[in-house]
Amino acid sequence: MDLRSKIREIQDFPQEGINYKDITTLLKDKEAFKYSIDKLSEQLKDLNVDIVVGPESRGFIFGCPVAYNIGAGFVPIRKPGKLPAETIKYEYALEYGTDTLEIHKDAITKGQRVAIVDDLLATGGTVLATAKLVEQLGGEVVSMNFLIELTFLNGKNVLKNYKTSSLVQY
Ligand code: 5GP
Repeated sequence: MDLRSKIREIQDFPQEGINYKDITTLLKDKEAFKYSIDKLSEQLKDLNVDIVVGPESRGFIFGCPVAYNIGAGFVPIRKPGKLPAETIKYEYALEYGTDTLEIHKDAITKGQRVAIVDDLLATGGTVLATAKLVEQLGGEVVSMNFLIELTFLNGKNVLKNYKTSSLVQY
């Protein structure tokens, strides 16, 4: 299936110069949504994944059905102040300023095999921070799977130590 044709591109969103990839057009298409989840799940089927981790918020949309499909649990990664129980935090640099992500301290146990699923890989900052949180809890990141990869941003350079894959590349 031509998934690329299901993704809408919005010029200058959320700021000038950005060609935003809008996945809502893919999500509402029943064949494209099912195909995407099935393909992402297929890439994980031989990896014995215990937990799928998804960063807020589009990582939830793709991560949850993939976890269900492969018989794994799901763990959310959230912006600060959203998770109710005890958390650990990871702060990382953006072009301007920093961002922080959190995970529940008891979300992952030592030695669990973890796949990180998100809608889009850009610079890799989000998914690298997510991996650091998983590793601090003793989890092993066995795969990082994306619907979309913006290859011109070279996110893979910062993810050299991980196995990554995506369904659509720009
Ligand atoms: P990174 O941390 O790799 O630079 O950015 C990836 C994160 O930003 C992902 O969580 C993704 O949801 C979001 N993101 C960045 N650009 C886009 C875009 O064009 N479309 C969508 N859907 N998400 C984006």
